[in-house]
Amino acid sequence: MHKQMDTRYPQQRISVFDIFKVGVGPSSSHTMGPWRAAERFVRTLVLERAIESVRRITVDLYGSLAKTGIGHGTDVAVVLGLSGEDPETVPHSVVDEVRRTVRGIEHLALAGGLSIGFEYVRDIRFHHDESLDYHPNGLRFSAALSHGRTIQETYYSIGGGFVVQEDEIPRPEASVTLPYPIDNAADILRWTRAHDPELRISELVRENERTWDPEDRIDARLMRVFEVMRECVFNGLSTERALPGGLGVARRARGLAASLLPLPWPPAAQAFFEAVANSNSAPARPDAAGFERVLRWISAFALAVNEENADFGRVVTAPTNGAAGVVPAVLLYYRYFVSGASDEGVVRFLLTAGEIGSVFKKGATISAAQGGCQAEIGVSSAMAAAGLTEVLGGNPEQVLMAAEIAMEHHLGLTCDPVGGLVQVPCIERNTMGAVKAITGATLALAGDPSSARVSLDDVIEAMWNTALDMNTKYKETSEGGLAARIPINVIEC
Ligand code: SF4
Repeated sequence: MHKQMDTRYPQQRISVFDIFKVGVGPSSSHTMGPWRAAERFVRTLVLERAIESVRRITVDLYGSLAKTGIGHGTDVAVVLGLSGEDPETVPHSVVDEVRRTVRGIEHLALAGGLSIGFEYVRDIRFHHDESLDYHPNGLRFSAALSHGRTIQETYYSIGGGFVVQEDEIPRPEASVTLPYPIDNAADILRWTRAHDPELRISELVRENERTWDPEDRIDARLMRVFEVMRECVFNGLSTERALPGGLGVARRARGLAASLLPLPWPPAAQAFFEAVANSNSAPARPDAAGFERVLRWISAFALAVNEENADFGRVVTAPTNGAAGVVPAVLLYYRYFVSGASDEGVVRFLLTAGEIGSVFKKGATISAAQGGCQAEIGVSSAMAAAGLTEVLGGNPEQVLMAAEIAMEHHLGLTCDPVGGLVQVPCIERNTMGAVKAITGATLALAGDPSSARVSLDDVIEAMWNTALDMNTKYKETSEGGLAARIPINVIEC
């Protein structure tokens, strides 16, 4: 008997580095999560001293993982995970090779060692009409051992690359003790106001992060996140090859950027972005032409990330892969278009944005299979709005107000990826999330939070209730919305 899973764990202690994780596209829940689940299963085999006795492994995919798993690369992810590849470091060429050949696979080197027979059709089973009660993204690994024993484990990919087993609900007493435990937005305000003068949200989050990391390591890790995001944008802008999957979606980021900064570009990311900043001269109050230029750049940044994501490239979950373009687009806007921007501001942006992602995960969901696209693009937009407001000088009330505004106008957004690919509407939708984030920050900075009628906690609760009411076909199944309107037979290439 399965119990219905409620992923809202208010007592969870989540670091910003749980929200911002380096990985591989196209999906945090359908690629990264299954990849990590496969790694965990291999670790179990090692711990049980069974790895040398494995004769066969089968993978059963259920619910949304079965319905959109091919387009989202779930099959590729489990093969790479079982093979011992790490999504943080695996070369793109290796992912590309497995993506192209996975259907003809005959063998698999388990954790890079023991070679076992592994056939795609026989050993990866898509249960399109079956969903596990616990969560829509369920997958089960079974290892048949030489002496007749079978080891089996079931995992759930609950969004943002997080993976749990059914009995793994975090217990508050098992959590770390943070100086400022935060379950919701009200806690954030309570803790910031407990100081005189009031603490900035990024300072509060930094104090909590020091539970896990020393001060200098927090900065170094966050700058590494920024560099991977920037590299991802640069790679997306520099690449011309067609997106995989058979939908025929053309890349647009490069053309849009080339209309603003003529080719050839500097060959490295940092020099490129300095050229972008110089070419634009960052008008503090842009005129119409300046405004359109900025809007084009922001759109190009967001498109670039999600074109890379769709091409199985290296991205940072923010909080998911499908929505990975929103935070980098707004962050790069801040870093290269706002006068006075600094690396210190980049760190504060990410600390704030990460905490907002956490409160959405604790109070609602960041899984499209549970909540539709409001849980992905909506959350990423709220994160970016909060981060930008923080670095533009907003007080904590304004930061939370910006996040609330950004999510309020994503409520009810469904997930309906055409052909089960993270391409249409996903890639373009990141540009919309980025622009709404900047609008949210602008309104909050000009507004009076004390007169706001809706709090961030209200909108998080509304999002969760909307998720519960949403028809299943709009939750990453590709059975409703645009996906139903434009049925295609995806030809894997
Ligand atoms: S529609 Fe939104 S939630 Fe669904 S796969 Fe695309 S980006 Fe993710």
